[in-house]
Amino acid sequence: MLRNQAALIAGAMSLVLAASAVLRASPRRSQLLFAVFAVNVSAWYFTDFFSDVSFIWARLHLASGITLPLAAVQFFRVFLHADDAPTRVLHRTALGSGVAILALLVTPLADGMVIRIAIFSYMAVFLIASMAMLVARAAESRSDVTRKRLRYLAFIGGLASVFTLLEYLPLFGVQIPPWGAALLVLFLYALSLSVEHARLLDLSEVVGRVAIMTFFALALAGALLLLTRFTGGALLPAVVASFLTFILFDPIRDRVRETLTTWFVRERAVLDASVHDAREHFSGAMQPDEIIEALVSALERSKRITVAGVYLVDPQSPGFVRVGAIGERAPERVEELPRLIELLARGPVELEAIQIAIDEHRERGETARAAQLDRLAVVVDGLAADICLPIESGGEVRGFVTARDDRAKWFSDDEVDLLARLVEHASVALDRAAAYRDLKERDRLAALGEMAAGLAHEIRNPLGAIKASAQYLTDPEHVEETPAEERHEFLDIIVGEVDRLNHVVASFLDFARPSDGERKAPIDATPVLERAMTLVGREHPDVTISLELNASRRIAILPERLTQIALNLARNAVQAMDGEGHLTVSASDLDSAAAEEVVITFRDRGPGIPDEIRDTLFGPFVTTKHDGTGLGLAITHQLVTAVGGKIEVESAPGGATFAMTFPAENPDDE
Ligand code: ADP
Repeated sequence: MLRNQAALIAGAMSLVLAASAVLRASPRRSQLLFAVFAVNVSAWYFTDFFSDVSFIWARLHLASGITLPLAAVQFFRVFLHADDAPTRVLHRTALGSGVAILALLVTPLADGMVIRIAIFSYMAVFLIASMAMLVARAAESRSDVTRKRLRYLAFIGGLASVFTLLEYLPLFGVQIPPWGAALLVLFLYALSLSVEHARLLDLSEVVGRVAIMTFFALALAGALLLLTRFTGGALLPAVVASFLTFILFDPIRDRVRETLTTWFVRERAVLDASVHDAREHFSGAMQPDEIIEALVSALERSKRITVAGVYLVDPQSPGFVRVGAIGERAPERVEELPRLIELLARGPVELEAIQIAIDEHRERGETARAAQLDRLAVVVDGLAADICLPIESGGEVRGFVTARDDRAKWFSDDEVDLLARLVEHASVALDRAAAYRDLKERDRLAALGEMAAGLAHEIRNPLGAIKASAQYLTDPEHVEETPAEERHEFLDIIVGEVDRLNHVVASFLDFARPSDGERKAPIDATPVLERAMTLVGREHPDVTISLELNASRRIAILPERLTQIALNLARNAVQAMDGEGHLTVSASDLDSAAAEEVVITFRDRGPGIPDEIRDTLFGPFVTTKHDGTGLGLAITHQLVTAVGGKIEVESAPGGATFAMTFPAENPDDE
């Protein structure tokens, strides 16, 4: 009874699979042959179901048992592109002996035991031979992934064949459960997916789909049962249940697929998660270095990669430089690779795919093309890469990422997709960082332009005075009338204004000089600040200067720069207090969450920063003094930020406090 039901169900499902293969728009030859194979399986089960009804069905059942291996061999020949001599012999032998046994079926021998044994052996030999074809093809394949997929297909197929053959045992008087039917349908389903996608699928993909289908079959059946119980009719519940299933299909399928991914393929799930994490890192990063670091750490965390390199176009000379890596095997620099870059413009390049293509070209006798690809394979292998993924910007390849897993060799299609997505996110982030840098550069240029306007103004004032004085002195009328000491006054004005001009230009140059990349040795700030304050104290004897210098850490800055900063701030303070009052200079270690730092402050008892310039205080040419240049704080700000520090001001009617934070290190850490 169970066996009969199973036969009927297996027959129906095989027929549906056959239909699904041919109903596609313009089916390929492999799809058509698959359909023939599936129809044959279906016939085999249907005739089995009806074989009790009349002897004709029993005969047909035996006949379809003979054509089944034939259809299998024919399908696998095309599906596996196996067209070598042994397969041709196999096919011919199957055909010859098949026809012979078929002929026996119409003779009186058909009812005897002999023909059953003949058919049993025939099926055994050729079904097993078909599976052997799969195994042989797997052994030949240079790709690990393909090999694995072919092997599990052969495994399911082998099991299905064995159990199908066991179903003949009833003919010999032995009863077994109908596992063959279930396995054979599963096998057909796996094949139909592979045929449909024109590629082999991972076991997890097949299992995932089967699980989803089972889930829906059960859900539909459950809904149907419930509805029938409550409504009594049959049509309405069926329609409602179908609607429910259709509506829920998409969302539930996605859910189930997600869950299955985590269950079945932990490795892939880890890769999935690290791609997701990296995306978040990218979105917060503005510096190319940060993005590349996040990319490399995502690759590392994926646990799927043992060697990797991130390459970007070398701005200095043609070629690419490595800007990030896992391990040291990816070369530090590579020359121009026109062929690879051309391919990368179209997407990821896999060494496996190149090698498969080489084999195919060789088989077809296209040696020139094969040799060309061979060279490419050598290049890619030289990069220690199983896969290269393009870093693109504005449709152009600006670099690439290479990756290899020494343990597992190739990557599956899913993994390639995920890695490609990861690198794509990184490309977008790099693009954004470049745009940001451009913007900052534009800001700098705009500030320079503004400064030039300010500078012109600063220069025009003293020039006016100089011109007036010079005109006065050169006018013969004036010269005769003016006493000598008065003429000296005019000369003093000229010298004074020239000095001022000199000062303005020197300050401007200080400001306009792009922050130098000079490597500064870490220094102790205390002696530098002490010396600077001694100088200020001598200039302004009426100002009391208190020093609270307790920093033990060192900061990386040139001593003369720190002196310049200290003098600027101290002189401003003194001027704000009209030359008399109290100035406190302090330095101390500070532990913030992110780093070790040193804070240096200048606190005066002056009137505080005038409100109208509070927001633009550190900009160039911002001043409230007649003879001020407005460059002092701008330069100070620039010097502090150039070494990675920051400067802030607090101001109240009781005085202003300038606080600077510098990155620092402990002297014992060196
Ligand atoms: P300058 O000293 O040539 O004016 P700065 O950039 O050094 O240029 O200072 C800009 C302005 O900031 C000063 O003109 C002054 O108004 C204000 N300022 C600077 N330091 C102080 C301070 N310690 N107290 C009050 N105001 C100050």
